[in-house]
Amino acid sequence: MTSDLIHEGISFDEQPLGFSTRAIHLGNGTDAETGAIRRPITLANAYELPYDASTLNWSSSDLNLYARNGHPNQRYLERKIANLEDAEDAVVLASGVAALSATFTTVLSRGDHAIFSDTTYIAAYRLLNEILPNKYGIETSIVDTSDADKVKRAIRPNTRLIHIETPANPTLKVSDIARISRIGHEANPDILISVDNTFNTPYNVQPIRLGADIAIESLTKYINGHGDALGGSIATSKKLTDEIRFTAQVNYGGVISPFNAWLINRGSVTLPLRMRQHNASGLRIANHLCRHPKVSFVAYPGLTSHPGHEIARSQLAHADSGYSGVMSFGLHTDHDGYNRFIAALNIVTSAVSLGHDESLIVFLGEDDERQFLYPKEFHHGFVRFAVGLEDADDLIRDLDQALSVI
Ligand SMILES: *Cc1c(COP(=O)(O)O)cnc(C)c1O
Repeated sequence: MTSDLIHEGISFDEQPLGFSTRAIHLGNGTDAETGAIRRPITLANAYELPYDASTLNWSSSDLNLYARNGHPNQRYLERKIANLEDAEDAVVLASGVAALSATFTTVLSRGDHAIFSDTTYIAAYRLLNEILPNKYGIETSIVDTSDADKVKRAIRPNTRLIHIETPANPTLKVSDIARISRIGHEANPDILISVDNTFNTPYNVQPIRLGADIAIESLTKYINGHGDALGGSIATSKKLTDEIRFTAQVNYGGVISPFNAWLINRGSVTLPLRMRQHNASGLRIANHLCRHPKVSFVAYPGLTSHPGHEIARSQLAHADSGYSGVMSFGLHTDHDGYNRFIAALNIVTSAVSLGHDESLIVFLGEDDERQFLYPKEFHHGFVRFAVGLEDADDLIRDLDQALSVI
């Protein structure tokens, strides 16, 4: 029988447990009723009330009451995510965007100021650039956070949040988490640094160990890993997770479904194995594309030529950590050449998202609304390629034959 200590991820014979052991055992346990060694999916909306329910706090997230307040499958997954991120606590919500909006709306109030990376997931950009300033009176500044000095210059007396996405989607720009955290905290201890860590996952980079206050993941991507469930997580202090549960979960209603929490918990068991393969294939394919005469540029932090390579290397959390599986690249071709290239691929699927078992590619044309914020080489169209878990030899053959049609 597996010891309870292992299920809590603490230690075994006083030795700390490795990442893979924790990814497997945390969030799992023996079902008390049946003895099953896999936890069941608990799909109930409501739970039986005690004899005198009149004194209960109906907004409490701490007891089984109503599924929107929190439910067992969510809590098992939260324990695992908090541990893997090395955070005091974690909240799991319905999507990565639910986790981003929960963080912004909980931390920021009318009159506060936030700094955010010039490249972020599009919803983070819309929330911080348009929705929160225009509807809720929050000041925001877009900053190229790959230059930490620019972050320092943008800090105001009312700055409360610095949100960075690294590597950024889709430019793969790298920001220095440790340095930006130091700059923010030295300027004002009340400033929180949040990091969208979706591309790296805690297997590659642990933002909280580097000094950040909040690590956000789209669980939809690598942590679930199988392309079949949406989820998002916020790992941070218990004080902040309590506030997020109260605002974003109980009162805005962004809770994850029990089924999706269960799927993500199961998918995350193999996160270390999968990340090692994404890291290895990503690096090999980026090196291959770099040398291809039809490829105009490759943005991948694992390449020594990438401007953020040294910072990315300094952030790696484990001996087998790497630079993940996402890269962007350009082709020496015209608009339709990109479409012909993608149509000629046999193994790689044309679809958005990333971190799935299968490789996914998406052509991002010349008219992205944020293109003025991208480096110049991105202005003539490019593809974002998420290397999957297929044999790298097969992926390279598929890319090469498709490149030959342009
Ligand atoms: C996909 C993604 C998100 C949003 O996650 P959803 O689960 O789709 O809501 C946020 N940040 C990054 C970097 C992403 O790639």
